[in-house]
Amino acid sequence: MSHCDSSDRLLTLRQALATALKLIHPLCETETAPLATADGRVLAADVFARLDSPPHDNSAMDGFALYLADLSVHQPTRLPVIGQALAGHPYANPVPPGAAVRITTGGWTPTGPDAVIMQEQCQIAPDQGWIEIEPAVAAKLKLGENIRRRGEDVLAGTMLLSGGVRLRPQDVALAAGQGIAALEVIRRLRVAVASTGDELYEPGVELPPGAIYESNRHVLIGLLRRLGCAVTDLGILRDDRGIILAALREAAATHDVLLTSGGVSVGTADLVKDMVAELGTVDLWRLAIKPGKPVTFGRIGDCLTIGLPGNPVSVMVTFLMFARPLLLKRMGVEPVEPVRWRVSADFAFRRKPGRREWLRARLRFDPERGPLAGVYHTHSSGALSSLVWADGLVELPEECAGVAPGDPVDYLPFSGLGVDGDLMKADELDQELGIDALHG
Ligand code: AMP
Ligand code: MG
Repeated sequence: MSHCDSSDRLLTLRQALATALKLIHPLCETETAPLATADGRVLAADVFARLDSPPHDNSAMDGFALYLADLSVHQPTRLPVIGQALAGHPYANPVPPGAAVRITTGGWTPTGPDAVIMQEQCQIAPDQGWIEIEPAVAAKLKLGENIRRRGEDVLAGTMLLSGGVRLRPQDVALAAGQGIAALEVIRRLRVAVASTGDELYEPGVELPPGAIYESNRHVLIGLLRRLGCAVTDLGILRDDRGIILAALREAAATHDVLLTSGGVSVGTADLVKDMVAELGTVDLWRLAIKPGKPVTFGRIGDCLTIGLPGNPVSVMVTFLMFARPLLLKRMGVEPVEPVRWRVSADFAFRRKPGRREWLRARLRFDPERGPLAGVYHTHSSGALSSLVWADGLVELPEECAGVAPGDPVDYLPFSGLGVDGDLMKADELDQELGIDALHG
């Protein structure tokens, strides 16, 4: 089914994503990643706990393991210290009532004692032969206090990590804590990237009249690497049928995704869409979005082709809002909605309803008005500087007819879209933006 016949009816982003996602099958080839290389990879299948963690009751504090019942709440209690249980060096014998064992954090609690008292709460004999506990301290100590129970973190047999997650450092650490040395992950997505345009030249050369330096590949390749893709840089393709056709054909045979920028609108030199149609199918073209209306999605054999427009802002925005969920699905990750926060507009904006629109935005916190999103002084889709200034996007829904200062708007932080960066530019934002304020 093709969505590009009636050229004047634009698809909404939601329709376009639903259509494209239905056509995309997740990769299923897997490989084994030693833990040292597993960060950022997509876990192929659910992983279950092999062990109870912790594997044994142990102490949460440096102190003394003892029997609560030995402590008097009327007078000081003196207990002999009969041995020690250091982390990695358990005390081998049962401990009889009336005695204590010195224990360090992580040391296994010996058989018998039912509480650990912190060393700071005891008087300790100079030779460490005994400890004494004041009645007031004894009265407060509870059964099981400062003892971490076997399995209280993870129980053997329970699900540790679910297949389809992109592994984060803490996920890898959880596997390590189970003694798992390698994880089965989906192989890397192979993505080829090309820019098209006769006017484009690489930085470093002298520009002829009418030319500009190429910049889109730097955005796309960086974003793809952050997704963990294996990227092939096809460079700059001239606006020439033969060149584009050959490059697309060759790349499609050896890649999972072909990502191009430029050459997808209706100018005479906009050849990418026609060439994809010649080699495969164009499944959708022209979305009700701004910037980035001429975006295309198609397939050449098993290779997905995503044609982004040429304007630098359109490239980044359409990558994040359209290409990224498609890539994630192909990578074996279930796409999730981007993080969005309801905040107040710190700007006025007039527009015609009909397209979903993203404005380059910055978040700040005002003590009286709460979290505020400001927007860049120009909305031109050629202004790359706006993306450098911004730390996220304000999303205006299709039906929005304009924004007045103070109106609620959705702010999507770049960090929630996989673009690294210090969202909380001001330290105080972290504390002041309470969770309540953020989820309007
Ligand atoms: P196009 O979509 O090919 O019509 O390009 C739209 C605008 O984006 C034109 O002004 C192009 O010069 C510019 N443009 C296209 N590709 C790039 C690129 N790779 N780097 C920088 N600007 C580009
Ligand atoms: Mg062009």
